[in-house]
Amino acid sequence: MPLTHTLGSITITALLDGAGSFFQPRAQAFPDATEAQWREADRRDPDAVGPDGGWWLPFRAFALRRDDGPVVLVDAGIGPADALAASWAPVPGRLPEELSAAGIDPADVRTVVLTHLHTDHVGWAGPLFGNADHLVQRAELAALELFHPELPARLLGPLRAAGRLRVVDGDTELTPGVRVLSTPGHTPGHQSVLVEQGDDRLLVTGDLLVHAIQLVDPSLPYAHEENPPEARRTREHVLRTLTPVLLATPHLTTPFTPHPHPA
Ligand SMILES: [Zn+2]
Repeated sequence: MPLTHTLGSITITALLDGAGSFFQPRAQAFPDATEAQWREADRRDPDAVGPDGGWWLPFRAFALRRDDGPVVLVDAGIGPADALAASWAPVPGRLPEELSAAGIDPADVRTVVLTHLHTDHVGWAGPLFGNADHLVQRAELAALELFHPELPARLLGPLRAAGRLRVVDGDTELTPGVRVLSTPGHTPGHQSVLVEQGDDRLLVTGDLLVHAIQLVDPSLPYAHEENPPEARRTREHVLRTLTPVLLATPHLTTPFTPHPHPA
């Protein structure tokens, strides 16, 4: 059964599309990390250490729902066997089964927020969610040369033709208490989703951070950030100003991680 967290009247469900080993040694993915930082990261997220000592990571999407209302899906996973992520990610993903186990009908998904356009976040976007507007930042669409060359033909063109591509600029309210935040750096138009209910706060991060080591030291760059200095500024700013917060992350092995970390 997919793990959920409830904030006020909003239920956030973690949907596990797949999991696997990262394609390069973790010391290459985080070249500046020290031995002491790895030890602390492994203490916080022990399951991220794979059988070969490499980086074991899940690929998740999150569903947001108030009572039985329309569903906001944040990210769309690695996708089916023929998805664009097939060259490196553990496809096929199992998002349809996860949605069904969570009691969510894809037809009830009215909004798909694509945190960014890397292939492990757009896998099931499109026809499976035929009633959903797909939200992308304008800055992301302005940088298509950074992404998979088949993205326009396979995803963006059909979405646009179906009237299901919604282009947004910066921070945008989706529903009361649910807001898209511009969090650039990992990609130019990266976005996260903030849920606020009373004093409680949850951030669906996208790839604002991808490993617990970036909670140990938010200044640590990740090798696959498009603009490392900007990614660092954004990560440090968010983790300093939006605290305390529960982080809902695609790639940490625990779907919900409190920040600051309890000692
Ligand atoms: Zn990712």
